[in-house]
Amino acid sequence: MQTQRTLDEFKNEPFTDYSKPENADAIREAIEQVRSELGRDYPIIINGEQIALDKKFESFNPSEKSQIVGRFADADADAENLVEKAIEAATEAFKTWRNVKAEERAEYLFKAAQIIRERKHFFSAWLAFEVGKTWAEADGETAEAIDFLEFYGREMIRYAQRQPITKIEGEDNRLEYVPLGVGAIIPPWNFPLAIMAGMTLAAVVCGNTTVLKPSPDAPTIAYKFMEVLEEVGLPKGVVNFVAGSGTKVGELLVQSPKIRFISFTGSKAVGLHIYEEAAKTREGQRWMKRVVAEMGGKDAIIVDAEADLDSAATGVVQAAFGFQGQKCSACSRLIVDESVHEALMEKVVALTKELKIGSPTEAETNMTAVINQKSFDNAIKAITKGQEEGGKLIVGGIGDSSKGFYIEPTIIDEVAAKSTIEQEEIFAPVLAVIKAKDFDHALEIANDTQYGLTGAVYSANEEKLEKARNEFQVGNLYFNRKCTGALVGAHPFGGFNMSGTDSKAGGREYLLQFMQGKLVSEKIGAVAKSESKEVLNAGDTSAKAF
Ligand code: NAD
Repeated sequence: MQTQRTLDEFKNEPFTDYSKPENADAIREAIEQVRSELGRDYPIIINGEQIALDKKFESFNPSEKSQIVGRFADADADAENLVEKAIEAATEAFKTWRNVKAEERAEYLFKAAQIIRERKHFFSAWLAFEVGKTWAEADGETAEAIDFLEFYGREMIRYAQRQPITKIEGEDNRLEYVPLGVGAIIPPWNFPLAIMAGMTLAAVVCGNTTVLKPSPDAPTIAYKFMEVLEEVGLPKGVVNFVAGSGTKVGELLVQSPKIRFISFTGSKAVGLHIYEEAAKTREGQRWMKRVVAEMGGKDAIIVDAEADLDSAATGVVQAAFGFQGQKCSACSRLIVDESVHEALMEKVVALTKELKIGSPTEAETNMTAVINQKSFDNAIKAITKGQEEGGKLIVGGIGDSSKGFYIEPTIIDEVAAKSTIEQEEIFAPVLAVIKAKDFDHALEIANDTQYGLTGAVYSANEEKLEKARNEFQVGNLYFNRKCTGALVGAHPFGGFNMSGTDSKAGGREYLLQFMQGKLVSEKIGAVAKSESKEVLNAGDTSAKAF
């Protein structure tokens, strides 16, 4: 594999302009290609070997639930054995992968990024069928996947260079970052390409090996990524693919004493459970497991009395209803100064009513179905609860699960702070609107949650923005723009409190979580000289400390 080349500075992958006929034709063609590939059988992959199993589970199209996207060998059938085998394969592969040069490891990521770039519409089409992403949402995710690979590849090369530490006379001191070992990669379904690929290859580029358990709601797109890894020639056993349930395969991975770290993105409940399980030391375990957990949110947009209401309304509608509100960063609370409440709501409602609900494979669709029956039921329950607790339904509120899991974009106004739908993540197109007496009150409501992922403030008043900069407790805070749409490199992503370990995906600290620092100190000229003649501590620079 070629490793010597000059790298360009990282730049975000541009989004596709589907108003151009050639681009629209390209995605239409990819959609038809993918349609012809639906319903195939997929194996699990351990040490490069494809293993078919009699027991299978199906992934289906949420917008057309009778349509099977992929049929998967279900590792739950023989979970103990298969999980053990996958961990063994990863453990074996670690022995050599950890010694592969960082530049060479990064090169696999760059090649994978290039393949995804060349087949961009094909990946986007899989996202449309498997999780219900519209053209624009799917394209955004495919671009993000490319960005993660390009960014983490460069980051690893940076960490492999000589690290800046204080120079002292008579010693050659080097701080090197070395990998941890075998990691369990447990991604969610909502960014099943970008987050899954980012989590997996961030760990891999650091020299770790992995067992990837894809989300049971989106295993096909993960399998397509495995095909890319095979195509770029990633050594066998570096990424092992074991599809199965979280409660069986996921649980076994988390509990295994041979797993060194867990990289998880998903709900608060599962994240907390994993955190607790990972803290237990099991027989034969030689380390404290590291857990990177990126969890849910109850993200708020504050619209101040001095805001540009047109811009705020657009941002709120995009952030609340883009991908059916199923982003961890989605706006699920609109906190508005009561003096502009009426004027803002008029605009928000008008824009919401313009949204076109339909199939993700059609160009003009703005919103499609939510992921599955459970999600649909939760959303309906939240809509009912919101009204029972005094909220006023002003748009939407209706669901139809006859063909797919469709929920109308829903706005519940006059929601009381601290009520259930103001506090709990819904993960569906349901927006709660809360009135605030003034800006300070708005901030108080925004911060009164267990979560702390994203937030936004619309205001023309610099002082208020400055106050929010200091006091709005979220990992990703945006001013005069929506709270979704973080870009790799530009907006390192991760939340506070119950939103997770604030790992800042797509940021310069991210890779450190998958490595440990090893300091090697060599006394200059000491090889020829006998140390035994020295008096203990005399001239020993370390005597003052450890
Ligand atoms: P989830 O918690 O249901 O599942 C996430 C993953 O965990 C899946 O692969 C699942 O199979 C697995 N899992 C479930 N139970 C497990 C167990 N006991 N042991 C081990 N693994 C287990 O979440 P989801 O529905 O896939 O994703 C939606 C959630 O993810 C939302 O809460 C959303 O806010 C959050 N999310 C957060 C971020 C972020 O960066 N903070 C990004 C995307 C999604």
